[in-house]
This record gives sequence, structure tokens and C-alpha cells, in this order.
Amino acid sequence: MSFVKFENVSLAYAPGGANAIEDVSLDIREGEFVAVVGPSGCGKSTLMKLVSGLKPPSNGYVFVDGREVGGPLKIVGMAFQAANLLPWRNTLDNVMLPLEIVEPFRSNLKKEKAQYTADAEALLARVGLAGYGSKFPWELSGGMQQRASICRALIHQPRLLMLDEPFGALDAFTREELWCMLRDLWQEKPFTVILVTHDLREAVFLADTVYVMSKRPGRILVRKEIDLPRP
Ligand code: ADP
Ligand code: ADP
Repeated sequence: MSFVKFENVSLAYAPGGANAIEDVSLDIREGEFVAVVGPSGCGKSTLMKLVSGLKPPSNGYVFVDGREVGGPLKIVGMAFQAANLLPWRNTLDNVMLPLEIVEPFRSNLKKEKAQYTADAEALLARVGLAGYGSKFPWELSGGMQQRASICRALIHQPRLLMLDEPFGALDAFTREELWCMLRDLWQEKPFTVILVTHDLREAVFLADTVYVMSKRPGRILVRKEIDLPRP
């Protein structure tokens, strides 16, 4: 039973122009951890836009949870290379931002907000940021900001987590620490993950299945299931 399905999907940004991705077919089951690797410009970000409903395909079909994607999806959490925390909000309020958008607080239900706050604090603690909720982004290191941005992507318990080079800007030690952190969070309660990266080692370390894309136009070259013992 597939959760994310691409059927022969192509996308040209300009009508009649060159395809950014071409004839891409994917079949991702719920709870699967997928990595998409390929050189810069092969269409990895384009793939993300198609899954999240930010772009319609020029040809083919994109299905999520059995329905054709027709616009921005709410069941998706996203994180990118830059943490993009809002500088005027502290860490806790940054993490809780998706709840305000996806599931606006009902202000008369104070208990509910307290519950959300507790969830956000628990998530921050899981990634080693216990006690940092009241700090502002400029008080955190790059790695800490990225941890917070992953918490923000997960706070509304999305069924689908999309990560676009989330560890690309980090030093090697922090990167591997965050790999383990992400793997732990996912193993505890599997949600579907699509991770875009140009780091093959990262893909193999984290994912169940790795798709390799070619450059211009972006096509799927290889689909490889990874069956390695995990640390
Ligand atoms: P990355 O390779 O890390 O995805 P890019 O520098 O290729 O980043 O792209 C950054 C942003 O600019 C993306 O949102 C992408 O969609 C957009 N972009 C990339 N190439 C073009 C282009 N030729 N014309 C317009 N926008 C582009
Ligand atoms: P990647 O994420 O793998 O670096 P992208 O999906 O950003 O690749 O880009 C794939 C191709 O589409 C590139 O040739 C890029 O220049 C082009 N592209 C990306 N975004 C845009 C855009 N908004 N307008 C026009 N071309 C774009």
C-alpha cells in the first residue's frame, strides 16, 4: 500500500520549456525512510515541491495517501538547509509555529495550549535542547538552530516529514549526531520521511530506500533498498 506515489511525473517550470524532472515514478509506503540523492540541479527540490503540493506536475500524477495532490498539504512537516527560525520568537515559540497555522489555538482552551507547550518542551529535550526553549535563535549555535527546526517540522505529528539538505551546513560531528537523533525519533514512532541530500553516506546511513537521480533532466536512475545493521 503506497503512501506517496509518482506516476511518470514530469515538470517544466516554463510552459513548453525543458523538464526539470522527467518521467519520475516512485512508490513510498507509509513509515518508509527514503533518501533521494543526486547532483545539484537534478531536481531534488522540485520533487519536494511536487510532493507537498506547491507545484502541480506538467505530466503524470502525484498521489499522497491515496489522493491526487491538488494543493499545499497539511500532513507534511518540512525542514531545509537553513533553519529559518523567526528571530523575534524564542525557540519554544518557533517550534510551536506550525500548530498556530495547522491547528489554530483556541484561546479559550488554556489547557490545550499548556499541553502543546509540554509537547514542544518534550521534543526539544529529545534533541538535547532541554532548557533552551526561552533562548532566541541568535543565542543558539547553527547545530542547535537546526535541531529546533527539526522539532518545528515534527511538532504537529506530520505523517510525512520532508527534509531538504537539513544537515548540509553543519560540521561533520554535529551532522552525525543529528543523523542519530533523527533515526531515534523515527524508530520510536515511524512516520514517512523523504530526505533530499547529495551526501550518499548520509543516505545510506539513514534510509531504508535510496533513489539516485541523474542530472538534466532529472530522472530516477536507481532505486536501492538498504539493508544494513543499524548502530
Ligand atoms: P539547491 O540546489 O540547494 O536546491 P538552488 O540554489 O538550486 O538550491 O535553488 C535555490 C532556490 O532557487 C530554489 O527554491 C529553486 O527552486 C530556485 N531556483 C533554482 N534554480 C532556479 C532557476 N533557474 N530559476 C528560478 N529559480 C530557481
Ligand atoms: P536540486 O534541488 O537537485 O538542486 P532543483 O529542483 O532546485 O534541483 O532544480 C532542478 C532544475 O530546475 C534546475 O535545472 C533548476 O535550475 C531548475 N529550476 C528549479 N527551480 C526553478 C524555478 N523556480 N524556475 C525555473 N527553473 C527552476
